[in-house]
Amino acid sequence: MGDRVVVAHHVPCGRCHYCCHGNISMCAEFKKTNLDPGGFAEFVRVPVEHVESVAFPIPDSLTDNEASFMEPLACCVRAVKRAGIQSSDVVVVVGLGSIGLLFMQLIRHAGGKCIGLDLDPARRELADSLRSTATFAGSEPDFEESLASMTNGRGADAVLLTAANPPLVPTALSWLRAGGTCLVFASLHPDSDVTLDWNQLYYREINIVTSYSASPDDLREALQLLANGSVRVSLMTGHTFPLEWFSEALAAIESRTILKAIMTPSRVSSDQ
Ligand SMILES: [Zn+2]
Repeated sequence: MGDRVVVAHHVPCGRCHYCCHGNISMCAEFKKTNLDPGGFAEFVRVPVEHVESVAFPIPDSLTDNEASFMEPLACCVRAVKRAGIQSSDVVVVVGLGSIGLLFMQLIRHAGGKCIGLDLDPARRELADSLRSTATFAGSEPDFEESLASMTNGRGADAVLLTAANPPLVPTALSWLRAGGTCLVFASLHPDSDVTLDWNQLYYREINIVTSYSASPDDLREALQLLANGSVRVSLMTGHTFPLEWFSEALAAIESRTILKAIMTPSRVSSDQ
């Protein structure tokens, strides 16, 4: 009683065809399982399969708010694995919201170089304070020069799309070296049409990889990375809202006034 724990929302069965092929988030059991009644509640019922597979004690070194980053960080951990990013790689991260900042730190922690792109100067500043290699507003000449000089003119080993629009996709693919990988980590509007140069993909052996959600092992690894300080999230945990202020929190996110909103149940004191 009284232990602090952090829990993820879905649990893969670990035995089905999808799970055996590493596609844990496509497992029927994964999609079916959930916390009851869901995330934005004062109390949640945690089913037994969650307790067994995706519930972890929070290490003393982490605040509750920091530990809440376990699940999003785990999604990034899995995505980096699926993209096959290696320690010496040069990676472009598009979008420096909270997910982009997590990706950037993972790549730096692995020994890679990371160029972050975001139109918002405040987000670029935050990325710079979290060890980005370089940041730019977008596809400007300075960015292209920097990418070329970091890669001996080859192009990026990987581009991670944490934000996207249809015209950006072919542009992002053009930043890749031959054999490079574009990791898709963002949805587009359902009516979007993306035009790709199929022959460029084929002749340049370009990989397009997607990654959706995280496995129990990724969750465990993410919590470790947070606990040992390899990934720092304290700069992203400053904005907490009581549940009653859900609309205000959403408005602050939508207007980009804040990077991340953390909702706290009213009767539990927040550690900010
Ligand atoms: Zn399964």
